[in-house]
Amino acid sequence: MKIGVLSLQGDVIEHINHITKLGHVGIEVKKLEDMEGINGIILPGGESTTIGKLLRETKMLIPLRNKILSGLPVWGTCAGMILLAKAIEGEIDGHLKVMDIKVKRNAYGSQINSFKREVIISEISGEPLPLVFIRGPVITEVTSNVKIICKVFDKIVAVKQNNMFVTAFHPELTNNLEIHKYFINMCK
Ligand code: GLN
Repeated sequence: MKIGVLSLQGDVIEHINHITKLGHVGIEVKKLEDMEGINGIILPGGESTTIGKLLRETKMLIPLRNKILSGLPVWGTCAGMILLAKAIEGEIDGHLKVMDIKVKRNAYGSQINSFKREVIISEISGEPLPLVFIRGPVITEVTSNVKIICKVFDKIVAVKQNNMFVTAFHPELTNNLEIHKYFINMCK
C-alpha cells in the first residue's frame, strides 16, 4: 500500500517510519504529482495556519479537497484535524472544509497544553493506547453522520466520517502502531 504524508510542515518522518514498520510505503507529498497512485493520505501535526497557507501556495488545496470528496482515505492528526474541519472556533474561515466537525484550537489550556494518557479506544484495540497531546485541539460539534471514536476529559478527540478519520493526538510520536494499522485498513 502507498500512503502519502503531506510534507509541507510538521512531523512527517515519524508517520513515514510507522508506515514502513507496518510493511507499507510512505510517500512524502510536497506537490500535486506526489499524490498520484497513493491509497490514502495522512495530514500530520504541526501548525495548521502554516500548513493551510502552504497548501494554498502550492496550489494543492483544491485538488486535495476534491480527492478527499471523491473518497481518498484521509487521516488528520492534530493540525491535520484542524485542516479537515468545516469550522474552526473563533476563525472566519477553515482550510479543506470537508468534515462535518467544529474544532477548537489549543483547547486544553496552558498548564496541560501537552500531556500523555493511556486510553482504551474500543474501535481500534482492546489494549490501552498511549495518546500524546501537544497543544491539541478538541472537537466541539459533530453532526449525526460523524462517529465519535474517543473522548478524553469528556472532550471529543477522535472521530470518523466515511473515508475521513481525525485524532487530536499524535500516535506517530509513540512506539505503538495500532492506530496507523487502523488507518491503513481504511485504505484497503
Ligand atoms: N496548535 C496547533 C494548531 O492549532 C496544532 C498542534 C499540533 O499539531 N501538535 O495548528
